[in-house]
Amino acid sequence: MPERESMPYDVVIVGAGPAGLSAAIRLKQLATDAGAELSVCVLEKGSEVGAHILSGAVIDPTGMDELFPDWRDTDCPLAVTPVTENYHWVLTKKRKFNLPHLWTPPFLHNKGTYTVSLASLCRWLAGRAEELGVEIFPGFAAAEVLFDDQGRVKGVATGDMGVARDGTHKHDYQPGLELHAKYVFLAEGARGHLTKEIIRTFDLARDAQPQVYGIGIKELWDLAPEKHVPGRVVHTQGWPLTETDGSNGGGWIYHQANGQVSIGFVTWLSYTNPYLSPFHEMQRWKTHPAVRDLLEGGKRVSYGARVINDGGLQSIPKLTFPGGALIGCSAGFLNVPRIKGTHGAQLSAMMAAKAAFDAIQAGREHDELHAYPEAFEGSALKKELSIVRNVVPTVKKWGDSLGSALSGVMMWTEHFGLKTPFTMKHHPDHDTLWRKDLVKPIDYPKPDGVLTFDRLSSVFLSNTNHEEDQPVHLTLRDPAVPIEYDLPMFDEPAQRYCPAGVYEVVGEETGDPKFVINAQNCVHCKTCDIKDPLQNINWVVPEGGGGPNYPNM
Ligand SMILES: Cc1cc2nc3c(=O)[nH]c(=O)nc-3n(C[C@H](O)[C@H](O)[C@H](O)COP(=O)(O)OP(=O)(O)OC[C@H]3O[C@@H](n4cnc5c(N)ncnc54)[C@H](O)[C@@H]3O)c2cc1C
Ligand code: SF4
Repeated sequence: MPERESMPYDVVIVGAGPAGLSAAIRLKQLATDAGAELSVCVLEKGSEVGAHILSGAVIDPTGMDELFPDWRDTDCPLAVTPVTENYHWVLTKKRKFNLPHLWTPPFLHNKGTYTVSLASLCRWLAGRAEELGVEIFPGFAAAEVLFDDQGRVKGVATGDMGVARDGTHKHDYQPGLELHAKYVFLAEGARGHLTKEIIRTFDLARDAQPQVYGIGIKELWDLAPEKHVPGRVVHTQGWPLTETDGSNGGGWIYHQANGQVSIGFVTWLSYTNPYLSPFHEMQRWKTHPAVRDLLEGGKRVSYGARVINDGGLQSIPKLTFPGGALIGCSAGFLNVPRIKGTHGAQLSAMMAAKAAFDAIQAGREHDELHAYPEAFEGSALKKELSIVRNVVPTVKKWGDSLGSALSGVMMWTEHFGLKTPFTMKHHPDHDTLWRKDLVKPIDYPKPDGVLTFDRLSSVFLSNTNHEEDQPVHLTLRDPAVPIEYDLPMFDEPAQRYCPAGVYEVVGEETGDPKFVINAQNCVHCKTCDIKDPLQNINWVVPEGGGGPNYPNM
């Protein structure tokens, strides 16, 4: 077996999202200010920076303000579309009720925020990072954490390229690269693959609640020009999930630059009915008269899906381990009622960067960066997350109407400084499904090909591509479980929760059912890794560069 080459860096960062790029930039800014040498590299599994980024996005600019105080005076795409109007609709099947602003606390009003494609913002950040000397390697997936003989993290290795499905080496085989570092930052976003391993290895979640998630399904539409109001932002709650007991979530409509609107629907993965399909809920949501009216005369141009952290403050694990740290949504700094994680990703990244820079300057390496969690403890970010920490569990416990009302009261009282004397718990998403014989199957309408679509034509718009002859990256701990357990218990829910139609059960009609995995269609949303009832599916990185090629999501 050929030896892997290794390259030494001061800091290696896994993931070129807002967290990874902000950490890289801050490290280099600190080095420049101190006149110090510091080598930083960022690995990105997408074919280019932004190719795997999917978000809303309405962005709280506090992260950008701290990173580049003058960003508004540059060509930064975030500056193009300030939010000008903010609405919150409560939907019934045919009607909408516009929630008065005065009913919701000010931090939900989107004052001073901006709407943008997060991918385009990441590409801009990548440009700034490279100007500062950061080395960014797109198309390289970090596949393995490397440990030294004391069990401390000493780096990561990228996956081998050119391995066939049966494990043999093809003519273009190249062994992975080892990237050694004094500190490794995991910035993989929600449900990172290496993050999962590190959390388990160092038991980082022992004092935290389980992380819980939603699956966000997004479409980008070119709107009829007369319907486009740049800066208008709408959130919806209620229908269609009100039709299915035990489910929660909501939609967004963000009018962005270039005559486009970002629309999407998040279904919390705590849903209980195994017949629920988040993809079809999103399609159904578009048929509401208020959403249909907006989209009529427009054209869908892109599609994608990605999970979002819903656990909030109580689900953030221990942030450091010997030799590195979790930053951004790898740790889970997302404010759920505000649906905002970008600023938290950036702010946490800068705190970690400062801790690592100071440690390296002091001659340290591979130890724990205690200054990072200490900085978070005293931060405005922690205060912001604390205020909303009970919202998700309250809505799950009491349902959409009563739960929203109760959590509204809690947010108001917390806003005025009256701290709720308890923090509610979470239940893991893989453990919430009811047996199929205890629930009603859901009959979703057929797509019309104009407003609503099927999964395969949708995945086509995500430009997803994987080298077909490679080991399947959706691994099963026990290959028998889908047919012997999931099918009789839950009618194998993977057939419905996967937004890309990767999982199928074929041959049921002949009495010989088989579980099929169309791995090449995977859009890397991570839902299967979370929702599979026995945690039998383990998502691992495929060859670097594979996956969606989102233009501007
Ligand atoms: C549907 C949806 C809507 C959202 N709406 C908003 C919003 O309106 N406003 C807002 O502020 N936030 C929003 N968020 C949250 C926001 O997108 C995240 O908080 C933010 O993107 C987190 O940044 P990150 O850098 O931690 O992770 P990510 O943005 O997820 O970036 C992680 C990067 O790491 C790469 N990566 C992962 N694993 C590896 C690996 N092993 N090797 C190499 N590369 C790897 C990925 O390809 C990706 O590019 C939304 C999220 C979703 C899913
Ligand atoms: S296979 Fe898993 S990660 Fe891939 S698109 Fe389907 S649910 Fe998402």
